[in-house]
Amino acid sequence: MAGIIVKPRSRIFQGHDWVYSSEVRKLFGDPQPGDVVSIKDFRDRFIGSGMYNPASQIVVRRFSRQRQDLDAEFFVRRLRRAMNLRASLAGIDPLFCRVVWSESDGLPGVVIDRYGEVAVLQTLTLAMDQRQSALVAAIQEALPEIRSIVARNDSVMRTAEGLERSVSVLHGPEPKPFPIKWGDLVFTVDALGAQKTGLYLDQFENYALVGSWSGGRRVLDCFCHQGGFAQACAKAGAASVEAVDSSASALAALRDNAERNGLSIEAIEANVFDLLKEREASGWTCDLVILDPPSFTRSRRSLRDALRGYKEIHLRALKLLEPGGMLVTFSCSHHLSAAEFLEMLADAASDAKRTLRRRAIYTQRGDHPILLNIPESEYLRGYAFEIAGGW
Ligand code: SAH
Repeated sequence: MAGIIVKPRSRIFQGHDWVYSSEVRKLFGDPQPGDVVSIKDFRDRFIGSGMYNPASQIVVRRFSRQRQDLDAEFFVRRLRRAMNLRASLAGIDPLFCRVVWSESDGLPGVVIDRYGEVAVLQTLTLAMDQRQSALVAAIQEALPEIRSIVARNDSVMRTAEGLERSVSVLHGPEPKPFPIKWGDLVFTVDALGAQKTGLYLDQFENYALVGSWSGGRRVLDCFCHQGGFAQACAKAGAASVEAVDSSASALAALRDNAERNGLSIEAIEANVFDLLKEREASGWTCDLVILDPPSFTRSRRSLRDALRGYKEIHLRALKLLEPGGMLVTFSCSHHLSAAEFLEMLADAASDAKRTLRRRAIYTQRGDHPILLNIPESEYLRGYAFEIAGGW
């Protein structure tokens, strides 16, 4: 079999599964893009099977420490293992969850979300994209109740692998948008139309946790999308809830959801940066601000610009809050470490002359498992801070 020899001191020797182009000492046996390759150390010892893409910065991703091919039978095995994990997690409905999440489920570049009878598949690496039909066959075998399988291949992550972006139906009838109920909350699944795969499943556990701060408070949910936080706050007895997003389609879904759920939420279509600025200028205040922005950076290189954006919205949000008020904030980029995020926040708090007392820490839900040796798998960080005192 073709393969690669990895340079000493590469991250794979610290338990990571990625080989960057700068870590390749040599190729052997003429591997072709998308092939399964043997990964060897510089003493010719086998250290695993990986998928090869010379067009990507991550040239090889290890998916097994054994000799292993990428075939339908392997996919079914990994899929079943991933499903068992979800079934064992408290608070997760295995019918509505992320069934497979890439490296964290031993399938680098494969993401499968399940919404009842609809599965949404993303193939984010060349090797997995080439094996899309084997993946579809595996989904049909492991999840026979699935009626429609949609390829949601419009992620920008595909560009890094040299792949085209598209959305299509791979199997079964074309799914129409439909509502789902999750606990107290209502969402709209639009597998073909909405952004990402439709819902931010990684946040599902955090809605009620954040809602628990909202009783009697005036709430501003920034970057609300379909309003998971806004709905949870309205349910938990917030005095008022305003929800802001720049996407008209997300807000249309939010209004439908709120109506179905009998909740009063004011949906505002605006750029959060502009809205916070206006509110600050007019001396407006509230009691709970939620910030859940998109990732402002796709690389370490643009981190400085991203931090400027993060600091601006945090500074403005803090100025809307008085002692006793709360700020709930999330970052969803693995490029931004917890330490960097908190340093930015401390800086904003200092400029806003606010004393912040931490009340809670949040993370991604368990259907997005974190691998200790792949720090990139931990990307969602969140915190609740109380504005302490009048000190
Ligand atoms: N809190 C949401 C997820 C937020 S994802 C949830 O739990 O479902 C980020 C959202 O920010 C997206 O809905 C996107 O449309 C919106 N967005 C991105 N840039 C924005 C901006 N500058 N102003 C307002 N909304 C923005």
